[in-house]
Amino acid sequence: MNAHMTPDEFRAHGYAAVDWIADYLANVADRPVVSQAEPGEFRAALPAHPPEQGEPFENLLSDLNDVILPGITHWQHPGFFGFFPANASGPAILGDLLTGGLNVVGMMWWASPAATELEEHVLDWMAELLDLPERFRSGGPGGGVIQDTASSAVLVALLAALNRVTGGRARAEGVSGRFAVYGSDQAHSALEKNVRVAGLGESAMRSVRTDPKTLAMDPAHLRELIEADVREGVVPVMVMATVGSTSTTAIDPVLDIGALCREFGIWLHIDAAFAGVAAVCPEFRWIHEGVAEYADSYCTNPHKWMLTTVGSSTLWVADRAAVIEALSILPAFLRNKATESGQVVDYRDWQVPLGRTFRALKLWAVLRWYGAEGVRAHVRHHVALAQEFAAWVRADERFEVMAPHPLSLVCFRVRGDDERTERLLESLTADGRIFVSQTRVSGRLAIRFAIGATTIDREHIASAWTIIRELATCPPSPSV
Ligand code: PLP
Repeated sequence: MNAHMTPDEFRAHGYAAVDWIADYLANVADRPVVSQAEPGEFRAALPAHPPEQGEPFENLLSDLNDVILPGITHWQHPGFFGFFPANASGPAILGDLLTGGLNVVGMMWWASPAATELEEHVLDWMAELLDLPERFRSGGPGGGVIQDTASSAVLVALLAALNRVTGGRARAEGVSGRFAVYGSDQAHSALEKNVRVAGLGESAMRSVRTDPKTLAMDPAHLRELIEADVREGVVPVMVMATVGSTSTTAIDPVLDIGALCREFGIWLHIDAAFAGVAAVCPEFRWIHEGVAEYADSYCTNPHKWMLTTVGSSTLWVADRAAVIEALSILPAFLRNKATESGQVVDYRDWQVPLGRTFRALKLWAVLRWYGAEGVRAHVRHHVALAQEFAAWVRADERFEVMAPHPLSLVCFRVRGDDERTERLLESLTADGRIFVSQTRVSGRLAIRFAIGATTIDREHIASAWTIIRELATCPPSPSV
């Protein structure tokens, strides 16, 4: 039987674990990017029963190599172009380690004052870096909080919006009546899921048309839908505008959408889960046009593009009272003087669960290591690579770029019928040197090429493009 790990054992195994991570990250490019595991294959390699006796920690590290790695798709691989990135970095990984070392539950200020105040502070820093409006900062009526995901941020915004629009009835009595929530036909599915979670039902979802060229929300259609709802006694609750859609990074016209929300008294949530961090660079701040004037809440994920490990989704609200009114609960066992003084933030009232890690620590580590300049350089590098890649695609008559690509995602397809793109996707999967994902743009199949790995460079893009061209063996369509 193993006793608790002693400090010396912890030190030795900790060094070994850090060595393992350093080696993994240094050599990840040599591995096939996508796991070739078949369903069930991984579990078949595990013992059927838990160990009765403790084992040496070395066994775990060797199983990481032999058992776990074959079942891993390598998100830190420079050939990973699928989904949106989850680019990690040394300071973030170490921040996670330190978070685990302290392992405080930062559910309220009293539970660990530094966990709360660092979060408030780092979110003020982030708001400054992204040039978000003053009312989102902790000194005013609003404030920021770190959620686990952008999906949770949507739910928090929706619950606050619902409580506000019902004058507190949603909290007191639950929801009854007919409500509507609006997002474009390109909005992330998290919206519809949370409409269900909030008890509104799928029928409350309104899908707003998008412009066929830009794939951004059509405000004229939004107005039509809202007016029709109001005429029929349906209560509009929230509009979610997307800054950087999942499919193509389309940017909704927040200025026009926001004006409509104000006219009808509707909560405006901005989902900038991936793209928002681009606003660290002044030249990309245009993506936030309208946010300062109109947003009630705004979310972006440092854990997608900003070098922070998963579990870092920053949400700001203009009116923190609206969130707290919807979500606060104070059982006897959590009562304390600090809360009663009204002088502190209790983040349990800003999210659905009670418990939470010391979420700010790794974001603090990232910001201190890179500084604003480092983060800007990272974003600019990826955007420049994407623009170069798009130019290569355009220059090859076999392919077409399918949507505007203002940031680091390029959607393209093989000209001709979808079968050709389908075949290319299949070949890329079978080949395994790079990983891309797919979407539909204006009804046609497209390849999403999302640039975002931490260590990616021009050579990786160039070799990905060579692989794509090699595998797109079909001849040009007759129309070209
Ligand atoms: N919104 C957008 C635009 C996204 O692209 C994503 C995920 O890629 C999400 C929301 C959901 O993010 P999360 O996994 O943090 O819930």
